[in-house]
Amino acid sequence: MERSLSGEGFTRSDNPETADFHLINSCAFIEDAKMETIRTVLGAAKIKKKHKNQKLVLVGCFSERYAENVRTDLPEVDFSFGTGRYHEAGALIGSKFGPASKSQSETESEKRSDTERLSPLFSIVKGASFAPVKISDGCDRGCSFCAIPIFRGKFRDIPVATIVQESRDLAASGVREVCLVSQDSNSYGGSPGAFLDLLEALHEVEDLHWIRMLYMYPDGKTEAILNGLANRSLPKLVPYLESPIQHASTRMLRAMRRIGDRERFQAIFSLARSVLPGSEVRTSVLLGFPGETDADVEEVLEFIEESRPEKLALFSYSPEEGTPGATLPDQVPTEVTRERVNRVRNAFLLQHANRQRDLVGQTFRCMVDETQDQEIIARRAQDAPEADGVVYLPNSRLLSPGDLVNVQITGFAEFDLTGVIV
Ligand code: SF4
Repeated sequence: MERSLSGEGFTRSDNPETADFHLINSCAFIEDAKMETIRTVLGAAKIKKKHKNQKLVLVGCFSERYAENVRTDLPEVDFSFGTGRYHEAGALIGSKFGPASKSQSETESEKRSDTERLSPLFSIVKGASFAPVKISDGCDRGCSFCAIPIFRGKFRDIPVATIVQESRDLAASGVREVCLVSQDSNSYGGSPGAFLDLLEALHEVEDLHWIRMLYMYPDGKTEAILNGLANRSLPKLVPYLESPIQHASTRMLRAMRRIGDRERFQAIFSLARSVLPGSEVRTSVLLGFPGETDADVEEVLEFIEESRPEKLALFSYSPEEGTPGATLPDQVPTEVTRERVNRVRNAFLLQHANRQRDLVGQTFRCMVDETQDQEIIARRAQDAPEADGVVYLPNSRLLSPGDLVNVQITGFAEFDLTGVIV
């Protein structure tokens, strides 16, 4: 979307009061996300009210899923389109409201150096050490709680050449880490071998330091990919596995129409830790699915105790229209779900605090994400950008985003760390 916008001369503004457009990329995954979308639209509408010429454009999953409601119930929105048209964003907005203001695009292009002109993504990711790169879209899994396939459609992958080209553009703009994102990464190319081939192709992008695989469904394909790493030379792959289990009770997993069980998940986590030494695991759990009992939650607690994922995202179930889960009996009351989320979170946080304490004194390879006057914000290879913790370092050397340094950990807070360059 950003590539398309910059191609049409639209540039990013840091100030919503003086911008020509409010462009809101929306989510409709669960109830909380929908509420956040509506709050964001209303917040932008408030600013727009003060500036007659501003336009409010809503894009993404919410506007795809609720196109009709956006038209009838959100008159503040001047124009909207769904996820399938991201790549045409610039042309669509240009044809609806006229081309990007000439003065704006000229001033911006005058400011651009030759290097910036080389890469169409430069103005977007300028200064960023990492960027997400989408490898596929849609999902055929059919989990009974999930509305994503309804509005993202059937699984389809993006060709290797396109992904490599995008990564090259990003690297030319200074990005040093790409995070491979999708709804279902291990289905890429139809076989674990195809996913491994993609990783190999990305290794050819010279200036990239790190490649991170995200959203690996915990099944045989992820096992095959992890096993396949032994036969490939993939030194840029970070020691990190993100694999959402969603529950640990077999009964709940089947109700959610997901495969696997505690033993299988534990085996996958152990495999990641052995084939990618130093690996840390992120998983997610959805609590409050219809029919869930305290005994099922006990299984989640036991699983966390046994398998010790280093990072955990907890979601509260919300019935999503159009999904099989929404019509199931025994819906769990919201306050019961909230209590269960708190119970699991507290157990995880106790474990996490001990782990943070153990990191003190250890040395890690870190990437510089941001340099400020007083400090540097860096990140261990074991931490994903924008999801996991960071390491704060004193600003003692001339470093730039994307540089790699060795850091000794000196202290910790709840999720973040402090350290010194060694
Ligand atoms: S695998 Fe993920 S995106 Fe696909 S249906 Fe299940 S939860 Fe939704």
